[in-house]
Amino acid sequence: MKKAIYPGSFDPPTLGHMDIISRSAKMVDRLIVAVACNPSKRSLLSLDERVELLTDLTKQFSNIEVTSFTGLLVDFATEKRADIIIRGFRAISDFEYELQLAQVNTMLKADIETIFLVSDKDYLFLSSSIVKEVASFGGDVSKMVPKLAEQALIKKMGGKRG
Ligand code: ADP
Repeated sequence: MKKAIYPGSFDPPTLGHMDIISRSAKMVDRLIVAVACNPSKRSLLSLDERVELLTDLTKQFSNIEVTSFTGLLVDFATEKRADIIIRGFRAISDFEYELQLAQVNTMLKADIETIFLVSDKDYLFLSSSIVKEVASFGGDVSKMVPKLAEQALIKKMGGKRG
């Protein structure tokens, strides 16, 4: 049984994330979408909001579980008996960080494999940060995030739009 983890901040989940999720769900028996709890990184949506959103967004997949995790990803992978980490790969700017992360994770746990899925061409330059920036100025993010995430952003930013 192939069990994989797709970790990330998902603040908010974008169409780029959703594309990676649906493609990887077809490749493995079970996919755990794992929202990282990183107290040193300020997030717009709370951990619970992100988990709830992703749970709603993936409810049509029977082999996906959404959860949050703290601490080292490899420890979480061991706990969940997963041996594959899925990461999305966009432009060259992702290269150094993703390579570093994959190598460190293999150093910490030799039998874990990182698989990179190349971003769909429509989402190559799409990131959660750019979505937050556009949304903060009242811009239209409907082509960047799923409807539910757009609604969550609008609600969150309600009074704070520039
Ligand atoms: P992190 O803080 O771990 O980088 P993100 O939520 O930003 O979390 O991203 C999680 C994963 O999804 C990363 O591997 C990232 O490269 C990938 N990703 C983010 N946006 C896209 C996108 N538009 N297309 C493909 N992969 C993406």
